[in-house]
Amino acid sequence: MSTRIAFTEDQFKPLVAALGNGDETAMVVATSLVGAATTAADSAKAGGHVTLLAQVITQVPKGAYLERGPRGLSISSAGWVPAFRAAVAKGQVPVFVHTHPGGLPEFSQYDDQVDCDLAVAARAFGAPYYAAIVISGTPDHPGVAARLYDLGDTFTPIAPDHTVVDAVRVTGSGLRLYLPTGSTNQHGTIESGEEKVSAFDRQIRMLGQDGDRSLKQVRAAIVGAGGTGSAVGAQIARLGLGEIIVVDDDIVTEPTPTRGHGMTAADLNLPKAEVLGDHLNAIGLGTKITKINKPLHDPDAIAAIAHADVIFSCVDGHGARLILNRWAYAHIAPVIDVAVLITPVETADSNRKVEIEQRVTWVAPGAACLLCRGRVDATLAYAENLDPETRKRLAGEGYVQAAETPRPAVVTLTTSVAALGATEFLLRLTGLGPVDATEMLLRSHLGELRRNARPPRPGCFCTSADFTGRGTRTPYLDLVGAWS
Ligand SMILES: [Zn+2]
Ligand SMILES: [Zn+2]
Repeated sequence: MSTRIAFTEDQFKPLVAALGNGDETAMVVATSLVGAATTAADSAKAGGHVTLLAQVITQVPKGAYLERGPRGLSISSAGWVPAFRAAVAKGQVPVFVHTHPGGLPEFSQYDDQVDCDLAVAARAFGAPYYAAIVISGTPDHPGVAARLYDLGDTFTPIAPDHTVVDAVRVTGSGLRLYLPTGSTNQHGTIESGEEKVSAFDRQIRMLGQDGDRSLKQVRAAIVGAGGTGSAVGAQIARLGLGEIIVVDDDIVTEPTPTRGHGMTAADLNLPKAEVLGDHLNAIGLGTKITKINKPLHDPDAIAAIAHADVIFSCVDGHGARLILNRWAYAHIAPVIDVAVLITPVETADSNRKVEIEQRVTWVAPGAACLLCRGRVDATLAYAENLDPETRKRLAGEGYVQAAETPRPAVVTLTTSVAALGATEFLLRLTGLGPVDATEMLLRSHLGELRRNARPPRPGCFCTSADFTGRGTRTPYLDLVGAWS
């Protein structure tokens, strides 16, 4: 089992800013629960991952502080009970957050007692889980500690068991994982003479130990195991991630080896997810590889990607893109949309000319989604998500567009755009790259590289506070009608 608590940058900023206040500050965060069970009765038997997605943050009202100082606080029940009850009534998990200004990211003995009381109360209200977060240090260098209490059948009110949360994830123009202090990861260590040297020594020299630790915690999904997806996989598997989930329901066909990394003529008719997954496994650097030979809307695929920290969208067309576009906001995790568009141009003198656009778009809360940017066509997406028979019929009646003919594609372009997308992920995770722009466009035929940033379009789903962090709540991604 692994655990995450996820915030948008906009949600997390005020929590960190509260460190600037000399006294401790407290708030309650109502979070969507993804995975495991949604009732206390079921939670005990669910062994899967738990991800909590922040939705509503309620500051403890000033009048509810009974005591408040730089090294402690106590609050009356009026300061937290209403927010706890409101969260549970909406099926959310209450999370109590407080600050240790200038202090350490550790729970004190007093915190242990408070969390014990709050866990008992949350259980009495009917919550399946309770979680607590301490934010410490300064606004410029915050530290985070987090723990999760399972309020299921095994819960003991006297000394309740808790698990350390593996990462608090903050997503916006960047991607940041706050890991427990002192956590280490040994995979990828090789023997070299007397001392052990990490196989990742060369990348650690660039990213530092912290960057390397973050990479080893990351759970990434690649949706689409074709030319770009396989090239993304071949690269990020070498960064030493914690887990890579490969989702594709296609099989290897004769053209596949012309672009697919790790895919050969001998793999004909085998599932792409299996072939790419086996190839990534063979790299042997300790990354867990999960292969999902199912379409994106299959319950197994939905469950497999539900706990991802980042998704690489390497799909063809608009249908799957539209789904992943919504996924980013619902799960408070970035989707890196990687695409190549090659357009032949008719010229009067019949010389061959093409326009080449390689695009990497960072889709995450706070930034414009693919619809806002006009990168996805909702009408085409709708048509693609129809079953083939219905689509043919509606196309015949002129209601939707018939299936498109294959677009041009070349391995050097699918591979290089994958490298740009993977680099974008790496730089944002480690804080080494610029985060102001959220899209990169490389036009090789012009020798031109551009970056841009777009705010969301008012009224788009991507600006909705209720949609952000909704997780897997029914109806899934509020996509009613996109598929039957
Ligand atoms: Zn404390
Ligand atoms: Zn939008």
